[in-house]
Amino acid sequence: MTSPVVNAKSEAQTYIDSVFEELKYKYAHQKEFLQAVEEIFISLVPVFEQHPEYIRHNILSRVVEPDRIITFRVTWQDDQNNVQVNRGYRVQFNNVVGPYKGGLRLHPTVNESIMKFLAFEQIFKNSLTGLPIGGAKGGSDFDPKGKSNSEIMRFCQAFMTELYRYIGPDVDVPAGDIGVGGREIGYLYGQYKRIRGAHEAGVLTGKQPGYGGSLARKEATGYGLVYFVEEMLQDVNQSFLNKNVVVSGSGNVAIYAIEKAQHFGAKVVACSDSNGYIYDPEGIDLKVLKEIKELNGDRISTYLNYHPTAIYTEGCNGIWSIPCDIALPCATQNEIDGEAARTLIANGVKVVAEGANMPSNLEAINEFLNHGVLFGPAKAANAGGVATSALEMAQNSGRDYWSFNEVDEKLHGIMKSIYVQSKKAAEDYGFAGNLVVGSNIAGFVKVANGMLNEGVN
Ligand code: NDP
Repeated sequence: MTSPVVNAKSEAQTYIDSVFEELKYKYAHQKEFLQAVEEIFISLVPVFEQHPEYIRHNILSRVVEPDRIITFRVTWQDDQNNVQVNRGYRVQFNNVVGPYKGGLRLHPTVNESIMKFLAFEQIFKNSLTGLPIGGAKGGSDFDPKGKSNSEIMRFCQAFMTELYRYIGPDVDVPAGDIGVGGREIGYLYGQYKRIRGAHEAGVLTGKQPGYGGSLARKEATGYGLVYFVEEMLQDVNQSFLNKNVVVSGSGNVAIYAIEKAQHFGAKVVACSDSNGYIYDPEGIDLKVLKEIKELNGDRISTYLNYHPTAIYTEGCNGIWSIPCDIALPCATQNEIDGEAARTLIANGVKVVAEGANMPSNLEAINEFLNHGVLFGPAKAANAGGVATSALEMAQNSGRDYWSFNEVDEKLHGIMKSIYVQSKKAAEDYGFAGNLVVGSNIAGFVKVANGMLNEGVN
């Protein structure tokens, strides 16, 4: 005769498997979305074993279907007066914890699967921050590369002309992501204000400081990532001091991760863009990097003009063959596969923490966990950006403006708290040391309980 415990276990696993099978059938072509769901579902078996009420209320089938997906045509004129057409998206996934919140991505690879994976992850990440924000994501397949400032402005205005009716400070609050920084947020907000005829600063975050933006928002994701890793290191009596670090990407997240890691005494030896990577054994010159990327919007290869002894390699994936103690993927999804993970491990990596969203695929994550590499998953490790966006919302609604240090201290505290919650949830559910399981569970339970509280809807 089987014990009740075994029955409960098999019921949880059967339920999770059946929801995933149905999802695979319905969305067979959405591989990034299915990948993100699978990573979370694997972690949730012990939760459903302890909470059969989640099964009774069919929480999983509900949480994997977005509240709504808004998709629209964006029509704009380029500098030659040609009419251009792009697809725009906003996935409002879940608003149990607070208004929908999540960035806008402008990149030619954007499609519904990528929007859904990002919005789905955002639900649990936002829940982990402890702040009142739900999960969403949006963007367009518009490619900002090579576009003039005027073209970017006209695109952003056209995008907002479609999006404005679906967002608002208490409804849905977009922010930046790949291809969307302070400049784009400024154009988007200008158009929103023009249409609405009101100064509703809380409708977008990532605005420029002085115009409703929070100090330290630009730095927050990168700094937050390093604060999170600092917690991981402290737990094993280590620190950043004198560690060799490899950071992929050279955008917003990467630049400020490099800045904070250097501040803590690490030597960052490599970074990349989508064309290739720079290896500088002397340590990446951050001033030069900022000049190339933030001022000139140039390619990373031009680093050689300033430091001819550095080495540039065409193609970005090879960056993971550079030996390092700490690897911080900060570019995009699925940039570390099983093979790259095995190379990093063979070269002695001790810590991998994700600044980008889902940069490691499942095979890579399993390699890290099975080889004792300390692994900080995106949901927890890169939550500093959205947490600081929520702090920007608080400042906007309070008509307040906090100092850089005040925001930075709050960010630091939030990252510590996310680490503690994730670590504790992993221990409580029998997976001590596994921050993937811990962060998934800690983020999920709050959302699931909120859904139970709100009844069937
Ligand atoms: P940016 O647009 O500022 O920078 C992106 C960087 O990644 C660029 O250096 C870009 O190079 C590089 N990149 C893009 N695609 C690829 C690719 N296929 N292969 C290699 N490199 C690539 O974006 P962010 O720094 O804001 O975002 C980076 C990651 O962090 C994303 O996954 C994003 O979702 C995540 N994230 C961002 C947050 C934020 O606050 N901004 C918050 C939390 C997560 P190139 O210039 O050549 O395109």
